[in-house]
Amino acid sequence: MEIKIKEVNNVSKNGQLTNPRLIREKETVDAMIQIYCSNNHNTESDLCAECTHLSDYAEHRLIHCPFDENKPTCVKCEIHCYTREMKNEIKMVMKYAGPRMLFRHPLLTIRHYINEHKSMGKLEE
Ligand SMILES: [Zn+2]
Repeated sequence: MEIKIKEVNNVSKNGQLTNPRLIREKETVDAMIQIYCSNNHNTESDLCAECTHLSDYAEHRLIHCPFDENKPTCVKCEIHCYTREMKNEIKMVMKYAGPRMLFRHPLLTIRHYINEHKSMGKLEE
């Protein structure tokens, strides 16, 4: 099946993500980056420049994500809109922070895994 990427902009006038699905994904990604950054880059409440860039990048991809409500989580997505470099970075963050999320953000983590589970199978690489 060929997927056409249409130009979308999932933000309201004040720059907030409009769709609850994307907001949850953004929260999950940010929580993971936070854990990764504070443990690996010795930051406290603020992210380091590198991780801020990754967080902004992830948000930017979500803003232009064409899947809206039916979007699989980014890890399982078949479009792979991340550049190779950013994809490697986010994978590293998720690998590190994923297991640790269970303790710090159990609800987000459970949602994340449910969403991934739903989209597994047809989206395997
Ligand atoms: Zn960092």
